[in-house]
Amino acid sequence: MCCNGVLFHGVRLQAADSARELAALGLKVKRRKNERHVLQPCPAHQGSQCAIYSRRPERCRVFECRLLKAMDSGETTEAAALEKTQQARRRVARVRELFHRAGETRENKAFITRYETLLTEPLDPSPAAASLRTELKAAMQDLEDLLKKDFRVEPALFPFCSVEISFPQK
Ligand code: SF4
Repeated sequence: MCCNGVLFHGVRLQAADSARELAALGLKVKRRKNERHVLQPCPAHQGSQCAIYSRRPERCRVFECRLLKAMDSGETTEAAALEKTQQARRRVARVRELFHRAGETRENKAFITRYETLLTEPLDPSPAAASLRTELKAAMQDLEDLLKKDFRVEPALFPFCSVEISFPQK
């Protein structure tokens, strides 16, 4: 989830990173406010692995999610962490299914981008559309609650992390 656009929609590049080299490796590099980011979902994320592991950006090297930290410190067990991951995957699948039912099929966009796109579209007043919208909001909130509790790290705990962690409450 760190690479597929569920947790983040971009990774800020650091001084040690070569935007040109990463772009040549297939990553989507964008400049925003004098900073460069690689966009997620990351094209190098293939089969749950990083296809450019030895050349991945600096922040990819140092990032550890809250769950991994908890496991490393003995706060949680591997079995409990795996169960938590499965739970998150089920919530991700639910949101993805609702995206598709709502006509948002762009798998090359981050979850938050897809969600915001749907929320900013002109409202379809039909009861079916309203119901789907309600379901999607609830599913997205359920997912975000879990991500916030078990996966995201606070910026203060991860000073090199500038990936977007805000979640619009709409
Ligand atoms: S470069 Fe590798 S580690 Fe970094 S986001 Fe892409 S797949 Fe994940």
